[in-house]
Amino acid sequence: MGRRKRRVLKIVKKKLPTIFTCPACGEESVKVIMKSGSGKALIQCGSCKIKEELTVPPSSGMVDVYCIFTDKYYGAASSVENQTTNSSSSA
Ligand SMILES: [Zn+2]
Repeated sequence: MGRRKRRVLKIVKKKLPTIFTCPACGEESVKVIMKSGSGKALIQCGSCKIKEELTVPPSSGMVDVYCIFTDKYYGAASSVENQTTNSSSSA
């Protein structure tokens, strides 16, 4: 009597958004490419060809990378000399 052991591996694929809206051109053509191992991620827009390589925490997902990217983009867009001017001297 042979008992057949069947291992069924269920691969659940989470459907996460992989295409994001580009902060530069407004098209939904921003791809996030995770460079696993190096802690870096590449962001590229297929429409306006904007490209950015970011150093991201290893646990971050694509959405996180996109957030960092937009944060950085809008931060750079508003070129305000935001230097640390408030030198608070506490006792
Ligand atoms: Zn774009």
